[in-house]
Amino acid sequence: MSIMSRFSLAGRTALVTGGARGIGLATSTALAEGGAAIILVDRDGEAAENAAAQLRERGFDVVAYPLDVTRSADVTALADRYSHVDILVNNAGIARSNIRAEDMTDDEWTSVVDINLNGMFWCCRAFGRHMLERGRGAIVNVGSMSGFVVNRPQEQAQYNASKAAVHQLTRSLAAEWAPRGVRVNAVAPTYIETEMTRYVYDSPELMQHWIGGTPQNRMGQPDEIAAVILFLASDAASLMTGSIVLADGGYTCW
Ligand code: NDP
Repeated sequence: MSIMSRFSLAGRTALVTGGARGIGLATSTALAEGGAAIILVDRDGEAAENAAAQLRERGFDVVAYPLDVTRSADVTALADRYSHVDILVNNAGIARSNIRAEDMTDDEWTSVVDINLNGMFWCCRAFGRHMLERGRGAIVNVGSMSGFVVNRPQEQAQYNASKAAVHQLTRSLAAEWAPRGVRVNAVAPTYIETEMTRYVYDSPELMQHWIGGTPQNRMGQPDEIAAVILFLASDAASLMTGSIVLADGGYTCW
């Protein structure tokens, strides 16, 4: 088997959470270009369907479903319906930044942890069970450089803690499931231009903090994260499990 053919996802089925926009949409596109059939889910079902329709226009095999990853029964029902999913990308996530820890409400804490960590675990558990039964599968979790460093100047303790937990969940599942053929890895992005970070454009000072702290002196694009996810999902990454791959423009070097 040639090296380049190991990057192909032909014949695979991939499910992407939070797939309607941003990194999730770029990832759905990349995996479809790689040859996979895509199940694109998002808590906004209409946005998911619109994104899927765009991809179908390009000739890709894509279906869409509404799925809120915090609803564990819904996650399990979808996993039981699509028990042949080979690749799971846990991308759905939110950030509620600029909240000082001492002022944070219970809801501001739990809403982030519920989606970023609990929802991710419900998905890993439900789809992972079927992968384990079949003896193969690849899971890619979207973590963050915020799991390694504390962002500044914006306060976001709950987001940072949730992403550090995502990284350790990734390593825990990787160790448990490696002997049974399921790989679990994560990508840890720097600041990426999406709806999540749009507020930076209202503040040149904040932008200077972000890109000034980045050796590449820029933010990233969603497809630069999708490319890493495509690699981790493919057989080209066959020796990789439990890896947290930083794609941070060098941010954590300084
Ligand atoms: P976006 O906000 O652009 O997209 C996130 C998508 O996930 C939205 O469509 C959103 O839907 C959906 N979503 C949110 N909550 C749920 C849920 N409970 N169930 C299903 N779908 C949900 O974000 P990004 O593309 O920027 O972020 C994607 C991932 O990348 C996140 O995990 C984020 O933490 C991570 N990340 C992003 C970085 C960045 O700088 N952008 C940096 C590092 C990591 P809705 O419109 O309803 O909110």
